[in-house]
Amino acid sequence: MSLKAVFLDKDGTISRDVGYLNDPDKLEIFPYSAAAIKMLNNAGYRVFVISNQAGIARGLLTENILQAIDKKMIRTLLGQGAIIDAVYYCPHHPQHGTYPFRKECDCRKPGSGMLKKAVKSYDIDVAASFMVGDKKTDIDAGKDLGVKTILIHTGYGKDEEKKFAPGNRPDHVADNLFEAVKWILVQ
Ligand SMILES: [Mg+2]
Repeated sequence: MSLKAVFLDKDGTISRDVGYLNDPDKLEIFPYSAAAIKMLNNAGYRVFVISNQAGIARGLLTENILQAIDKKMIRTLLGQGAIIDAVYYCPHHPQHGTYPFRKECDCRKPGSGMLKKAVKSYDIDVAASFMVGDKKTDIDAGKDLGVKTILIHTGYGKDEEKKFAPGNRPDHVADNLFEAVKWILVQ
């Protein structure tokens, strides 16, 4: 039986978007994130973090630093009873940096390569799954995969909402991750 999943953007969704976060000490998880993710765990959703990290291509942080940041996020959330099943990140940028990070890839959102990888590894039921993020690229990645999409107003969300054409809006708009999860649980 395939599993249902919620794909979460990281910066501006789970934690404050400080712009190319490159220090675990500067990670600031929103106060409701653990409660929201725990609600998804309890409802039987697998939870995946899907993050563009072009700061790696741009030379602003290394993969080691990113992994230290992600480890801190996972441990902090776990300490509050919330389980992240896996973290996927895209280190590439099509125009910036040098080999091997400067390249056209299918993982950088709005591409859905990272989501597709999770779907394959975990046998995810796309039709029963959701993508939550604060940018149009998050929503477009979710739409490309075929999951329901929720734009949230934290991070860049309020400005990003203006980018959607009337016929191409997210399935739902919520104030923050906690409100998005409340909506998911009544679908
Ligand atoms: Mg974001």
